[in-house]
Amino acid sequence: MGKEHEDSGENDSLRPDHDIEAGELKAPKSDPNSCAWFFPVLVVTVIMLVYGVFMYAYLVPMMNQLHTSKSDKSEVLNADPKVAPHPAEYVLAIALTWHILVIMLVVSYLRAMLTSPGSIPNEPQWKDPQMFGIHPDVEAKVTKIMSDISTDVEAEAEFIKSVPVLERKKGNAGYRYCNKSCDLYKPDRTHHCKFCKMCVLRMDHHCPYLANCVGYGNYKFFMLALFYAVCCTGFFLGAMAVRFYECFNPILDAGYFFAYDLPVALMYLMCVGLFFLIGIFFSFHVYLTANVMTTIEYKEKLGATSSTLRHQFKVAHKKYDNGYFANLCHVFGPLYLWLIPLAPSHPDRGTYTGFVAKPEMTA
Ligand SMILES: [Zn+2]
Ligand SMILES: [Zn+2]
Repeated sequence: MGKEHEDSGENDSLRPDHDIEAGELKAPKSDPNSCAWFFPVLVVTVIMLVYGVFMYAYLVPMMNQLHTSKSDKSEVLNADPKVAPHPAEYVLAIALTWHILVIMLVVSYLRAMLTSPGSIPNEPQWKDPQMFGIHPDVEAKVTKIMSDISTDVEAEAEFIKSVPVLERKKGNAGYRYCNKSCDLYKPDRTHHCKFCKMCVLRMDHHCPYLANCVGYGNYKFFMLALFYAVCCTGFFLGAMAVRFYECFNPILDAGYFFAYDLPVALMYLMCVGLFFLIGIFFSFHVYLTANVMTTIEYKEKLGATSSTLRHQFKVAHKKYDNGYFANLCHVFGPLYLWLIPLAPSHPDRGTYTGFVAKPEMTA
């Protein structure tokens, strides 16, 4: 769920340019959203196919056997010969767990797709950097910390966290500004998305499978969609393992093979691939979240070849890093809400969406 098409506005950042931008300059002009519906339709189709095969070839035959075994024994003859009878409690537990996982997946996916990732508020402080209220002495200290790689970042953590906007342009060290279509100054970690045609707060990447950017407002839903996709495919693999094995038993007849064995085998193999692919991708994002990094920042960190750039990354990173657990809570909310697709309340929302008015700071 994470093919990246990121920002085009980062050549004004402290950080190095992305390769994708160079390619973007040469790419022919075309509407980037012309086929935006394709991948969401593909995702919905895959969910429906996996759900359908689970129900049609496994759960419903099991439920039928429960029913027939109690009423008319002769009907058992019509039951699926490759699905073994199970106790009612087992069937109920399978049915409940499966439907809870699928519902959570669908809700998380829809919320990730339909929730705004967050844009720069159209407020005065993002139109006039004077409104940031950063004292010249503070600005001088920011410049010094950023350029002096011998700075003890840990010792300056409190100061770094207190600066309302830390990232600066690469060229003249001014505040970052979006002149694409937003015409606003950018909060830290904000990038312009050419697909969404807006600056996205704490942008992670533009996800074609969501037809939406993944950013400040919907990152939790994106993560939960991945998590429940791993749960659903994993559950499918576990519950259907015996049924998959049965596909290799002698074919009863061609009709049965095409109606049952073939769909089960195809869906099972597809779920094996999805389980590992999405599992690896989800694990990568857990790592990013715990280390308070976006995909864009991770790539910037990898690409930071000079010691100065690595130092600048470390400083910018320090502003938002509060330790693994706090970083996870920042995205997922309090522990009891981690697996529920409800928006977390962001106590430091102001850090991203327009910091609250602060008294003018002095160094
Ligand atoms: Zn923009
Ligand atoms: Zn986007």
